[in-house]
Amino acid sequence: MKNAFDGSIGLFVVILIIFFFWFIPIWYGIKWAKIKGVSKLWMLFGIHPMTGWIAFLILRYGIDPRKQCDKCKESIKIEAQICRYCGNQISQEEIDMAIRAFEDRKK
Ligand SMILES: [Zn+2]
Repeated sequence: MKNAFDGSIGLFVVILIIFFFWFIPIWYGIKWAKIKGVSKLWMLFGIHPMTGWIAFLILRYGIDPRKQCDKCKESIKIEAQICRYCGNQISQEEIDMAIRAFEDRKK
């Protein structure tokens, strides 16, 4: 009887560990997608733990932070001075503001 009990605890721990490794990249991936202003749909890769981790690492370290163009609402690089979609000029003030907002979100 005791063995069966130990067995189910062991199984529970294993399932817990699997969920842990599965959900961490999704959780942090969504957090970093928000911080960087990138689409959260990235974390659909989290459907599989392996691709979830890869997507999270790319999001965290491989993608430049983004901001939205005031004119055309496309997502562009945070340091961009000219929108690559509509040619909208972005002032240094606005760039500094976007970078400051990004730094705030990181905290
Ligand atoms: Zn634009």
